[in-house]
Amino acid sequence: MPDTPIIVWIRRDLRLFDNPGLFHAAEQGRSILPVFIWAPYEEGKWSIGGAQKWWLHHSLVSFSASLEEQGIRLIIKRGPSTSALCDLVEETGAESVFWNASFEPAEKARDTQVANALHEKGIETIQWDTQLLHDPASVLTGKGTPYKVFTPFWRNTERHLVVSAPVPSPRFKPEPDALSSIKSLRIEELKLLPILNWADEFHDVWTPGEQTASSRLNSFLDHAIADYNENRDFPYMDGTSMLSPHLHFGEISPKTMWHQITQENPSATKDDKKGPYLRQLIWREFSYHLIHHFPHTAENNLRESFDRFPWSKNQDALVRWQKGETGYPIVDAGMRQLWRTGWMHNRVRMVVASFLTKHLLTHWLEGAKWFWDTLVDANLPNNTMGWQWAAGSGADAQPFFRIFNPMNQGKKFDPQGIYVKKWVPELEAVPQSFIHEPWLMPEQQQQRINTRIGSQYPKPIVDHKEAREFALASYKNISK
Ligand SMILES: Cc1cc2nc3c(=O)[nH]c(=O)nc-3n(C[C@H](O)[C@H](O)[C@H](O)COP(=O)(O)OP(=O)(O)OC[C@H]3O[C@@H](n4cnc5c(N)ncnc54)[C@H](O)[C@@H]3O)c2cc1C
Repeated sequence: MPDTPIIVWIRRDLRLFDNPGLFHAAEQGRSILPVFIWAPYEEGKWSIGGAQKWWLHHSLVSFSASLEEQGIRLIIKRGPSTSALCDLVEETGAESVFWNASFEPAEKARDTQVANALHEKGIETIQWDTQLLHDPASVLTGKGTPYKVFTPFWRNTERHLVVSAPVPSPRFKPEPDALSSIKSLRIEELKLLPILNWADEFHDVWTPGEQTASSRLNSFLDHAIADYNENRDFPYMDGTSMLSPHLHFGEISPKTMWHQITQENPSATKDDKKGPYLRQLIWREFSYHLIHHFPHTAENNLRESFDRFPWSKNQDALVRWQKGETGYPIVDAGMRQLWRTGWMHNRVRMVVASFLTKHLLTHWLEGAKWFWDTLVDANLPNNTMGWQWAAGSGADAQPFFRIFNPMNQGKKFDPQGIYVKKWVPELEAVPQSFIHEPWLMPEQQQQRINTRIGSQYPKPIVDHKEAREFALASYKNISK
């Protein structure tokens, strides 16, 4: 029998270690043909944003180099996925296509269509679960309904979760000559990098790829996980793992992380040091659980009463929020960190999201769309849950009437203004006592330190107290 290859459809699983699709294909003893298909329109309304494209470009370069070291080529094709795969099947005589499953609604629907088309041609397809620690449909309340509140979801997970061991990196057979004629696009031809120099600074913070993901985890385990619970809320510290984009692109699997952190100890979730971090990984699982059971919530409020909320359509306010020019230092620092690095600290994500939806009364979808385009870790389940939580319209949400006070958030989580001064350098000379409310600085002092509020840095876009009262009144109307 000729050595027909197994096609492995590569998606957001750009790694060799714990990649079951690749591993099991290689284990069959056949040659394998990994293919990445560029078809962003198949992701529905939430097709890949600008910052993620930057990441994808570099991640593909890194992954393709790792395969190349093993004598395997990554084939790049343009979609539609069905026709690209059917053409490859025809060209190579392949009888099987393997891939790692996606749990995001549009991708899942697309995968079903692709699988059906391949089955019609008599091609076997096998999908492996690796994006999550467990199937998001498998965890249900005692009544058989989905969870809407995190804590009981977490308790259930803690009791029942068994995470199987990650699979090793595959051992490939050398690529046979017959496959060397398969044509591939060059990664550059996908034109994923921004034309303007927007993402130039991303390289200062990020190196996409499996190797960096792994070393970031190791370094976090060596230096930061023990203090994670104490430090994770302070944006000026390196208190969190910053693994979110690596996880999103599958450069590291949650299973690998879980195993490395727990070291096979089932009670690690109760551990004071590691437990809080493991709990965050389960927040990720929870967001997939929610989007699986309530797929409409990517665009619609989970709490329907919010459909009547009188959102403002003030475009100018939205643009000032996007640019980090609201006059509230902690908000502006966060929005500028996002623009310049493609990432924002979780505490500040909560603050800026609350500010947009409650102080500026702008629909959470506007914020979700901006995050989608600018975050390197933009991820539909997490982004949807984060925004609906902040707006008060989602599952287990921050109640609408709890409105973050941006001055107090700044004072509590960035008391010396280190984070603010890093991202809003025009406030460099402002003393600590005014750093989170610089508009209160007396005229003379502004003159002395050459920092004019209203010209060098904006005055607050809205008055906190008035905005708060207006938001509460608006909420009262929908909660009647
Ligand atoms: C408005 C808003 C929007 C958000 N949008 C996204 C998004 O598009 N993509 C995204 O990955 N996260 C999103 N988050 C969640 C969270 O802010 C990020 O996961 C976190 O900041 C990533 O940094 P880290 O890797 O250092 O996290 P760590 O604190 O080191 O946590 C480790 C991992 O746990 C998961 N995690 C941590 N916190 C959360 C959380 N609250 N919800 C779900 N998973 C979590 C992430 O995968 C993260 O990488 C959003 C939060 C808010 C409030």
